[in-house]
Amino acid sequence: MHEDKKSFSVAIDGPSGAGKSTIAKLCAEKLGFLYVDTGAIYRTVGLAALEAGIASKDEAGVAALLPKLDISMDHDGDGLQRMLLGGRDVTSDIRKPEVSIYASDVSAMPPVRAYLLEMQRRLAREHNVIMDGRDIGTVVLPDADLKIFLTADAGERAQRRYDELLIRGIATSYDDVLRDILYRDENDSKRSISPLKQAEDAVLVDTTGNTLEKSFSIICRMIEENMNK
Ligand code: C5P
Repeated sequence: MHEDKKSFSVAIDGPSGAGKSTIAKLCAEKLGFLYVDTGAIYRTVGLAALEAGIASKDEAGVAALLPKLDISMDHDGDGLQRMLLGGRDVTSDIRKPEVSIYASDVSAMPPVRAYLLEMQRRLAREHNVIMDGRDIGTVVLPDADLKIFLTADAGERAQRRYDELLIRGIATSYDDVLRDILYRDENDSKRSISPLKQAEDAVLVDTTGNTLEKSFSIICRMIEENMNK
């Protein structure tokens, strides 16, 4: 770690279901970093818009809602990032499939991205972080100490996400999850602002066919090697 820097930051970007959050959370626990799931923050804005009855593509409506929002997060003992909306714990609600679509739609809006940018940068200034998202290496933390672009085949990503939702008790079908993944891949990569894109200086890691343990050990080792540089 550089001596003149107070914190060390790792940016992990990639499409939905690539394993970013599971791997980032485990590595953060092992290395004593703060894990920041930026998708959860966009999901919280999406949930707020949904609950306010605003259409997911109504940019003016969502922009007008932003100043009224009270979004905060808490990290409990096991590293889980709890999301609070107006003080209410929405950690489970934001995982619902309809909220995924809302999150993807509202995240394409410049006022939403501007609103969340400083919140994310502040966390990285104040802590050693592993932050996952879509534009962390390209926009949020362009000077991150290590950038990783994590991806996997879409069918495999859908299967992982489907298994995860089943465990959480959220009813859905594999086909619906695959459709949702493909919709979000397209939406997230084609938008004009902060599209999902590998940063030039990011290391590409394709987890297709890997067990979670294997991907976890590859990423953790990569972080440890960079910290010791
Ligand atoms: O990572 P997760 O799938 O929970 O993110 C939900 C949605 O939030 C994504 O589909 C994406 O549109 C948006 N997002 C984003 N930028 C980030 C993180 C998430 O646009 N840094």
